Amino acid sequence: SEPLLEISGLKTGFDTYDGRVRAVDGVDLTVHAGKTLCVVGESGCGKSVTARSILRLVEAPGSIDAGSIVWRGDPEPFDVLELDVSDKRLAKLRGGDVGMIFQEPAASLLPLRTIGAQLIETIRIHTGADKKAARARAIDLLDQVGIPRPEQRVDAFPFQLSGGMCQRAMIAIALCANPSLLIADEPTTALDVTTQARILDLIRSLQAEYRMAVMFITHDLGVVAELADEVAVMYLGKVVERAGVEELFADPKHPYTKRLLHSVPVLGRDRGRDLPTIPGTVPNPLHRPKGCSFHPRCAEAIAGTCDLDEPPEIDFGGGRTAQCVLYADREGATA
Ligand code: SF4
Ligand code: MG
Repeated sequence: SEPLLEISGLKTGFDTYDGRVRAVDGVDLTVHAGKTLCVVGESGCGKSVTARSILRLVEAPGSIDAGSIVWRGDPEPFDVLELDVSDKRLAKLRGGDVGMIFQEPAASLLPLRTIGAQLIETIRIHTGADKKAARARAIDLLDQVGIPRPEQRVDAFPFQLSGGMCQRAMIAIALCANPSLLIADEPTTALDVTTQARILDLIRSLQAEYRMAVMFITHDLGVVAELADEVAVMYLGKVVERAGVEELFADPKHPYTKRLLHSVPVLGRDRGRDLPTIPGTVPNPLHRPKGCSFHPRCAEAIAGTCDLDEPPEIDFGGGRTAQCVLYADREGATA
């Protein structure tokens, strides 16, 4: 299918008292129309910052330093990073063509306004519907995301709903304007396993119904196995491997991916499981190791090479890549 969103060379950093942290360090990612891209990695690898960069939601002391983010969902493609903040196309993306859901519903639900008021406002902004039509659509959306008795719940405040219900309400808000892309940043991490499973099923069925693309950010390999078409594995601000989901699980290339997958025995039955602990901790991005930033934790590291030179990104064709020197001389692979 066609590319909907193309991120190239994205660099996003934060100023700290100890210097500038490059949270996202040259990321290339493509989301295809109607498909699910899962971005997986440990906490602090830059996956959330990548997601927030797409809608220009990175706040001071952070800023986007380089790259392009091309949106192809309009007749005329444009680079989100080149838009003026007052550009109407940016407002149309945020909460319109691109819906976004977060780990914490509190991040996007206002505590002192009813669920309905928040839905109705978003619906009116993006569709121009009148109040009555917007309320009817709000109730319909709450019903679609599986909130029982939506005619009553529409007038509830967030604190009157359970965590799972708030998550559903947030999904309803994200879906208000029939987005072509839903960005979900660990939306089920704070929920119990049963609710998690229900929310994932919901996202899958809504995706099929609305033909949305989904960019799903997670540290949970069970979720990846269940939802992804394509997978990007991130480590310390870089994408170290890209593959279709089946290829990734059947034949991981990057030593980091291999370690992550090592303890996921049954595909699709492992939902709710965190990434296995692998030796060593994620280095502080302020003190990024020289050469391959994974080398202090890599069982296959080559002394004198991996600790000195940044490995090339190897292209295996068909959308498969791995940034690792082990494949540099393989046939059919090009650096
Ligand atoms: Fe390991 Fe070297 Fe490959 Fe990095 S480049 S993942 S250290 S083998
Ligand atoms: Mg995060």
